[in-house]
Amino acid sequence: MDDLMLKIISLCKRRGFVFPSSEIYGGFSSCYDFGPLGVELKRNIKNLWWDEMTKKHKALVGLDASILMSPKVWQASGHLSAGFADELVECKKCHKRFKLDEIKTKKCPECNGVLTKPKKFNLMMKTFVGSVEDEAAKTYLRPETCQGIYVNFLNVLDTMRMKIPFGIAQIGKAFRNEITPGNYIFRVREFEQMEMQWFCSPKASKTPDDWFNYWKKERLKWYLNLGIKKENLRAIEIPKKERAHYAKRQVDIEYKFPFGWKEIEGVHNRGDWDLSNHSKHSKQDLSFENYIPHIIETSVGVERISLAFLCEAYQEIAGGRTKTTKAIKEKEVLLKLHKKLAPIKAAVLPLVKNKPELTKKAQEVYQLLKTNFTCQYDENGSIGKRYRRQDEIGTCFCLTIDFDTLKQNDVTIRDRDTMKQERVKIKDLVKVLTEKLDV
Ligand code: ATP
Repeated sequence: MDDLMLKIISLCKRRGFVFPSSEIYGGFSSCYDFGPLGVELKRNIKNLWWDEMTKKHKALVGLDASILMSPKVWQASGHLSAGFADELVECKKCHKRFKLDEIKTKKCPECNGVLTKPKKFNLMMKTFVGSVEDEAAKTYLRPETCQGIYVNFLNVLDTMRMKIPFGIAQIGKAFRNEITPGNYIFRVREFEQMEMQWFCSPKASKTPDDWFNYWKKERLKWYLNLGIKKENLRAIEIPKKERAHYAKRQVDIEYKFPFGWKEIEGVHNRGDWDLSNHSKHSKQDLSFENYIPHIIETSVGVERISLAFLCEAYQEIAGGRTKTTKAIKEKEVLLKLHKKLAPIKAAVLPLVKNKPELTKKAQEVYQLLKTNFTCQYDENGSIGKRYRRQDEIGTCFCLTIDFDTLKQNDVTIRDRDTMKQERVKIKDLVKVLTEKLDV
């Protein structure tokens, strides 16, 4: 694996962003757990997306549908037929499985053994509902969250008195029995999706294609506003032959990961396919004013963009940035996450540990801030070392409590990016940090 990726993975493990699932039992199947810092990062991403969708945009409401749904939903959506299956070949000798479209040779890429004929493999995870494990009780963990939105279209329309065009946003877990998971948290078997479905009219002067262009632009802007550099982001128009049969248009938003350009989000014009199909299968009329609404979808995975934001933020500064300390000038790591994404907003650091009057004051400041911002208190090691520990996890501000604090009731605020320091009165701290963090 790429050197940079190994460094990011190591940082994530060491500093409590991401742990392998069931690690004390040797890990499990491309599943990962988000640790105390990872969960804050993920929560920030989800909150920013949710606020962007439901607060910034007019006529956009939220939903939280269940993971388990009637198997009839998957019949109607096409997931039980060939559509959601990958073609697999298996090596007769080592029994490894490969996606047909990913292998270039006719022999096993691992052991050169003979391969079986391709077989369809459905990516949905089966489960049983109730006490009897028979066909009647069989259902699936949802492989995408959007079906929960389609089947609630009428409920939302009626209860919220919505009018076309309007949208429904949802964040929730999805499961795919991926054959080739990998690249750390890029492709996993259990992940969270943030999906928005925009219902619009094919007859209106603002056409579904106009809405498609609008959402594509909005989504690109969102990444740029959160610190992704322009040169690391691109939108690729997917040609007809590579799209799902019902998709009228598809743009993949891609990020330049250390392992190459990869999709992070899809923007799809799904036409009237979803609501027509659910109308047909459920025998419910899902039309609005005598037409079936068309759907523009934006769909993104939280783990996948967490990795994109981490890759974008990771910096190594050779020789160190801290010119004032006598510490050996080694490589320093800076996680330059956008302030709204940073898991820890402020760290409270007494200048030295063995002066009770300083640690007592620092604890007071910590208690004052901790109900407003995610904070850490750290008194171990030299102040320079503590700054570096905070830089490595992207903490926006370090607040140092020193002997002047005791006389003047102010603290030093050190900015992560500029390393500039200023003194701020303790009574003004919440206000000043709120302004600086724009929260
Ligand atoms: P890929 O082929 O890259 O796995 P896809 O084309 O199957 O993705 P979609 O079905 O369009 O993806 O899903 C929309 C988004 O959901 C993706 O852009 C990605 O961010 C996320 N996603 C899909 N599958 C996974 C997965 N296995 N792990 C993490 N995120 C995923």
